[in-house]
Amino acid sequence: MKNYKNDGDSVHRMFYDTLKGGDFRAREANVFRLAECSASLIDQAVAQGVPFAREYSGYLSNRSFGGVQVSRTFYARGQTGQQLLLGTYQALMRQVKAKKITTYTRHEMLDLVLINGVAKGIIARNLDTGKITRHTANAVVLATGGFGKIYYLSTLAMGCNGSAIWRAHKKGAWMACPSWTQIHPTCLPQSGAYQSKLTLMSESLRNDGRIWVPLTRNDNRKPEDIPEEERDYYLERKYPSYGNLAPRDIASRAAKERIDAGHGVGPLKNAVYLDFKDALANQGKATIAKKYGNLFDMYQKITGINAYNEPMKISPAAHFSMGGLWVDYELSTNIPGLFAIGEANFSDHGANRLGANSLLQACVDGYYILPQTLPHYLAQSGNPEAINKEDPAFIECEQQVTKQLEELGKINGSKTVDYFHRELGKILYDKCGLSRNEKGLIIAIEAIRNLKASFYNDLKIPSKINGINEELEKAGRVVDYLEIGELMCIDALSREESCGAHFRTEFQTNDGEAIRNDEEFKFISCWKKSDNVPLLIKEMLNFEFTKPTERSYK
Ligand SMILES: Cc1cc2nc3c(=O)[nH]c(=O)nc-3n(C[C@H](O)[C@H](O)[C@H](O)COP(=O)(O)OP(=O)(O)OC[C@H]3O[C@@H](n4cnc5c(N)ncnc54)[C@H](O)[C@@H]3O)c2cc1C
Repeated sequence: MKNYKNDGDSVHRMFYDTLKGGDFRAREANVFRLAECSASLIDQAVAQGVPFAREYSGYLSNRSFGGVQVSRTFYARGQTGQQLLLGTYQALMRQVKAKKITTYTRHEMLDLVLINGVAKGIIARNLDTGKITRHTANAVVLATGGFGKIYYLSTLAMGCNGSAIWRAHKKGAWMACPSWTQIHPTCLPQSGAYQSKLTLMSESLRNDGRIWVPLTRNDNRKPEDIPEEERDYYLERKYPSYGNLAPRDIASRAAKERIDAGHGVGPLKNAVYLDFKDALANQGKATIAKKYGNLFDMYQKITGINAYNEPMKISPAAHFSMGGLWVDYELSTNIPGLFAIGEANFSDHGANRLGANSLLQACVDGYYILPQTLPHYLAQSGNPEAINKEDPAFIECEQQVTKQLEELGKINGSKTVDYFHRELGKILYDKCGLSRNEKGLIIAIEAIRNLKASFYNDLKIPSKINGINEELEKAGRVVDYLEIGELMCIDALSREESCGAHFRTEFQTNDGEAIRNDEEFKFISCWKKSDNVPLLIKEMLNFEFTKPTERSYK
C-alpha cells in the first residue's frame, strides 16, 4: 500500500517504542497520536519535495535509529532536518508570495504581552536596528525550539536559545520537566577550551559502526595496534539485543562511564571509537560510502582523519530538550491564547527522546495538530476585539524590555557574556548532565546563584544597545539561561528516581541501570513561577494501554 518496505513495523510498535524509550514518562494519548500521524507526514513531506533516500526499486528507504529494532526512519543522507526545513521553507515562501503570511526575519521575541491574563501579542527587537517593536495577535504560537545550548557546548545552532519560552514562563506559563535534557552519544569530542560549538555525527552511523574503547586504561596505542581481545565493545557487551543501537541516554551514559573510568581515547582522553572496520570488510567501501559518504567527508574535513582507514572518535554532547513549556493535548499552554509546538514544548518524548522523533513531532504539531486546535480556540473565544498596540499592557511590557537592555548595557564590568555562559555550562554538564545526585545539585544551585550575582556585577557589553549588538543579544539569553539552569537543578533534585536521561546516581541497580519509582513519580512536573520558590504542580500519568515495565535493552 505504502511506498516503503515497512519491515514489520506498525503504529502500535512505534507507539510502544516511543513510550518505552521515554521511560514511561509521557502521555500515552500524545504518543499514540504521534505514531498515528507519522505515516501521513512522510507523504506530506514527499509532496513538498523533500528528497528522501530511495531504493533502486523507487521505494522510500528506511534505516534504524537508537532504541528501535526495525528500520523505521526515513532519511535524506544525514541531512534530514535540513531537507525538511527547505521543503517547509519553500511552502512558507509560497504563502508569503500569496500575501497570506508576513515574515519578520531578524526579529527576536523578547516578551509575551498578556491582556487580562490572555496572550495578545509579543514585544520583539529588530536585530539589525535595535528597534523594539510591538506585535498584536489573537493567539501566540511559540515554535522557538529547545534550550540545549544552555550547556554552552552543544550540537545546536548558535542562534538557538530558551528566552521565548522562559519569558512566557515568567508571565505564568508552566515549565514542564526542564531537567530532562538529552546528551547525544555520537558527536565530535571537544578539542579545546575556547570552542563554541560541537558537531553532531548522525546517529545512523550506529547502524554499521561498532563502538569500543581499549580494555586497558590510558592506552596510548593507535587503534589499529590494539588487538580484538584487548577491545571492549561495551554496548554490545552490556546490551546484547540492541548493541550499538541502544537508546541515546543509555549509550551516552555508558560512554561517559568508560571515559571517566580511564578508558577514553584521543588527545584529551574524552572520546570512544566508532569503528567501521567490520562493516567495510563485510559490505565493501562502495556500499559504506553510499550510505554515509557525506558524513565521512565531513568528519575528515573537521578532524583531518580518514574514517575509512581508522575509527572515528566520538563523544557525548548536549543536544535536545525533552522538557519545555507545558501544553495540553491541544498544544495550548496554561495561558489562554498561548500555544507551544515542536521542541519548545515538553510533549511526547518523556524522559528520553528516540532518534528521528523530534522532526516528526515538530512537523506533526505544526502540520496536523495546531491547524485543528488553534481555530477551535479562536472559535471558542468569540468575536475577537481589535487589539490596540497602545494598550497599557503593551506599553508597560515594552518599557520593561527596554529597561532590561539598558541595564545590561550599563554594567560595564570586565567579563564577556561567553565567559558566564561557559561557566554555567560547566556547572550544568558536571552536576545536572548525564548523571546527577542530591549533593551535586545542591552545590550547583548555589554555584548558579553566585554566577548570576557575578554576571550582574561584572558583565561587559561593548558598543551601543540600539543597533546591531550580538553581545547584547547573547547577554539577554544568558540572563534567562541562568534562571532556567537553576530551575533545571531544582527539578532534577525534586525527582528522586532515575528515568531516561534523568539519571540520579542514588537510584541505580548494582550494574548501573536506572531505577524508576512509579509509585511516587509517575507524573509530569509542571513548575509555576512564584516570587520565592517555584511551585510544583503534578500532572499524573495514566497508562491505559501499556504497562510501565523496567526499561531493558539487554
Ligand atoms: C545537529 C542536529 C541534528 C539533528 N538531527 C535530527 C534528525 O535527524 N532527526 C530528528 O528528528 N531530529 C533531529 N534533530 C533535532 C531537531 O532538529 C530539532 O529538535 C527540531 O529542529 C526542533 O524544531 P523546532 O521547529 O521546534 O525548533 P528549531 O528548529 O530549533 O527552530 C526554532 C527557531 O526559533 C528561533 N528562535 C528562538 N528563539 C527565538 C526568539 N526569542 N524570537 C524569534 N525566534 C526565535 C530559532 O532561531 C530557530 O530558528 C537534530 C538537531 C540538531 C541540532
